[in-house]
Amino acid sequence: MEESYVDLHTHTTCSDGLAQPEQIPHLAKKAGLKAVAVTDHDTIRAIDRALQAGSFLNIEVIPGVELSTMLDDHEIHILGYFIDWQNEVFGEKMRKLREGRLARAEKILARLKRSGIDLHMDQVLEIAGEGVVGRPHIADALVRAKVVCSYDEAFDRYIGQHAPAYVPKRLLSPAEAIGLIVTAGGVPVLAHPGTLHRDELIPLLVKWGLKGIEIIHPMHTPQLTQHYQEISRRYGLVCTGGSDYHGKGRLHNGIGKYKVPYQTVESLRRLSSR
Ligand code: AMP
Ligand code: ZN
Ligand code: FE
Ligand code: FE
Repeated sequence: MEESYVDLHTHTTCSDGLAQPEQIPHLAKKAGLKAVAVTDHDTIRAIDRALQAGSFLNIEVIPGVELSTMLDDHEIHILGYFIDWQNEVFGEKMRKLREGRLARAEKILARLKRSGIDLHMDQVLEIAGEGVVGRPHIADALVRAKVVCSYDEAFDRYIGQHAPAYVPKRLLSPAEAIGLIVTAGGVPVLAHPGTLHRDELIPLLVKWGLKGIEIIHPMHTPQLTQHYQEISRRYGLVCTGGSDYHGKGRLHNGIGKYKVPYQTVESLRRLSSR
C-alpha cells in the first residue's frame, strides 16, 4: 500500500497565517496528504471551519493549537493535538490570551511612536482581520506604511527580539500550557526544539506531561532531526513534524513540504482522551 502522510503544523488567518481555515484541507489535498493539523498560535477559532472543509474534501483535519510559553526568558512553543476545541476552560483561556495580545500590540505601537513612527492600531487590525494580533501583522503594517521595505527589515529594525519596539508577550508557563492541553483532552508536543537550544529542559517538560516532540520542521537540519529522534526514544515521545505553514511570503514552505507518516496521527489519537 502506498504510504500516506500528514502535515502536523499549519497556521491560518485566525492567527498569523495567510490562508483561510477552509483553504488548509484544500492545500493538503493538493499536496497529496491524507490529513492535516491546524495549529494556530493561541487560538482554536479556525478549527470548526477547517473541519467542515476537510469533511467535504475527505481530508482528515486534526484539531490543534500552538501555545506560546515562557520559561526563564526562553520562548517555548507547545503544540496540542486532538484538543476538544469546544472545551470551555480552554476557550476562556484563549480569549484571555487574545486580549493580552491586543494590549501588547498597543504597547508596541507606543514604542514605535517613541522612535518617531506613527502607526495606528486600525492599520494593524486591518491586516490582522480576524487573526490574533501578532508581530507579523505589525511588520506587514510597517511595510504597507512604507516605514520599511520588507517584512524582515521590520523585525530587524523595530520589532524583533533585540529591537527598540520589542515588547514580550505575557505568556503561559510550559507547565500551564501542557496542563491546559491535557485538560482539553489533547496531546502536548514540543514544537521545533532545534530553535530553542535548550535540550536540558526536555526532561522537565516530560515530567510535566509532554508526550511528543516535533523532529521534522523547516528550521531543523537533518542532523537536528536525527538528534531529536534519539531524544524521543530516550523519553518515549511521539515524533511529529510539519511545515509550519504561514502562507506565501511568510516563512517559506508549502503545506506538505515537511510531513510525517500518517501512523503518527494514530499514535497521537491513542494518547488523547477523545
Ligand atoms: P508574536 O507571537 O506576535 O511574538 O510573533 C511571532 C511570530 O513573528 C513568529 O511566529 C514568526 O512568524 C515571526 N517572527 C518572529 N521573529 C521574526 C524575525 N526575526 N523575522 C521574521 N519573522 C519573525
Ligand atoms: Zn506564526
Ligand atoms: Fe512555533
Ligand atoms: Fe508555528
